[in-house]
Amino acid sequence: MTPDEARARVREAAGPELLERLAHLDATRSHPPADDRPPARAPGRDDPTDCDVALVGAGLSLLYAPVLAALGARVHVFDRGRAGATHREWNASARELDALVAMGVITADELAGLVVARYREGFCRWHGGGTYPVTGVLDRSVDAGALLALVRRRAESLGVVFHDGWALTGHASGERSIALRFVDRGGAASEVVARVMIDARGAASPSATADLICPTVGGVLTGLAEGDAADEIDPAVGEILVTTEGVEAGRQHIWEGFPGRAGETTVYLFYYDKRERVGDGSLVDLYARFFATLPRYKRGAAQLERPTFGYIPGWSRLSAAPRPPSPRIVLVGDAAARHSPLTYCGFGATLRSVSAASARVMAALDAEAPAPDPVVHDTPLHRGTGALAHMIASPPTDPTQAGALNGLLDAAFGTLHTMGDEAYGRLLRDEMSGAEFMRFLHSTSRRRPEVYGWVFRVLGVGGVGRWGAGVLRALGGEGRGVR
Ligand SMILES: Cc1cc2nc3c(=O)[nH]c(=O)nc-3n(C[C@H](O)[C@H](O)[C@H](O)COP(=O)(O)OP(=O)(O)OC[C@H]3O[C@@H](n4cnc5c(N)ncnc54)[C@H](O)[C@@H]3O)c2cc1C
Repeated sequence: MTPDEARARVREAAGPELLERLAHLDATRSHPPADDRPPARAPGRDDPTDCDVALVGAGLSLLYAPVLAALGARVHVFDRGRAGATHREWNASARELDALVAMGVITADELAGLVVARYREGFCRWHGGGTYPVTGVLDRSVDAGALLALVRRRAESLGVVFHDGWALTGHASGERSIALRFVDRGGAASEVVARVMIDARGAASPSATADLICPTVGGVLTGLAEGDAADEIDPAVGEILVTTEGVEAGRQHIWEGFPGRAGETTVYLFYYDKRERVGDGSLVDLYARFFATLPRYKRGAAQLERPTFGYIPGWSRLSAAPRPPSPRIVLVGDAAARHSPLTYCGFGATLRSVSAASARVMAALDAEAPAPDPVVHDTPLHRGTGALAHMIASPPTDPTQAGALNGLLDAAFGTLHTMGDEAYGRLLRDEMSGAEFMRFLHSTSRRRPEVYGWVFRVLGVGGVGRWGAGVLRALGGEGRGVR
């Protein structure tokens, strides 16, 4: 399939607005965004402010708006499209979702209404290897659009002011506040002064400098055959990570599939990549592959009902962390990239962060001091899993080794399965301890001793050293709540 045919199928399913979003994301990959049209001047020390917090970008991170407003902040929300209008279905683990109710953003009844499917179990399966089931992981599918619509209504009821169609073009920091310049859909420019800006522009933020990236395309499909064969969808089971071939075109492509409402299945195709390969591969190209190779994964007369796509940043912890360009800017969500670099589950990670991160922003406002960086939660385990993600993003280029990555991942997930359902689930939910992670690495390398050569080839001696030091710090930090 050609890129133009893939574009036509996305347009047919979702219309021109979503196609524009696809083009915008692909443009940010080939030409990294820059905040290069700032306001005329930075605000003076005693200049008045329009709001306490300017939340710039209102996808998943819209969750911050009602929480900050309930804590007493004057919040304005800005998005280049409509704030809170995501077209996704997010999966998460049941326990993680309870945070939405605990934060007071929605009620327990509203949460129950947002869950579109529950799974008995999930599994990972690597081409040519075994199938490894696990329970309690990504076992709920949530209507993300309906969730964000509720969050927006809650924020509006708390006095949050929304600016739809406003794109940030630049900022200028003063001593106690920050001036922001926006351009609206009609091309008109406006300036706003806030005490703090939360950068929630996801992969489109100039600060989203994490070294890994996960291009993802797919969406909600109907027409897939149901059943329990490998090429059918079982509505009680979530497929977390599945491969249907080895490395092709220099990439290890991975499928994810989870059933939603009756007759509907969300299917994604993605690969892990290094951000430095800017401009190499687009979401449109990946869509062309998605449509062409879907029959390798599932059979049936598939119809794309609602396309969803994006670039999800990931940070290996082997290079410099994404940092805000000014003490008046706070990074959250994908821009901060403190979620798992192995699962890229930004939803669960944000649910773990919003409450404490909002309290830190409020404390900084009260103290008239910069907020700590990072303001979001980061779990020590990521210092271990980041290097694994870096290796998946660097598959062997020798065609005779096309199946080697699958073999290694099969050994790793076979080990996790042998360690037991609880341990397996803990790794995927970011809850595994450093000591348990070391046991996992040790058992995997006993199954596949050639992994040592691979690790040194991909990470280099320096990378191995940084990884080892990170894991040791994680081990040392356990129990002290290290971020
Ligand atoms: C296809 C796909 C499926 C996913 N599925 C899951 C899942 O099942 N479970 C899970 O845990 N995670 C999932 N994720 C990851 C999760 O969606 C992200 O981690 C999360 O959305 C990041 O939230 P965010 O607020 O940082 O950015 P986003 O949700 O990406 O929102 C960014 C917002 O910024 C706005 N914006 C961009 N530039 C500007 C600008 N200059 N000015 C103003 N606004 C701007 C955009 O319009 C957008 O609304 C998925 C991601 C993708 C791409």
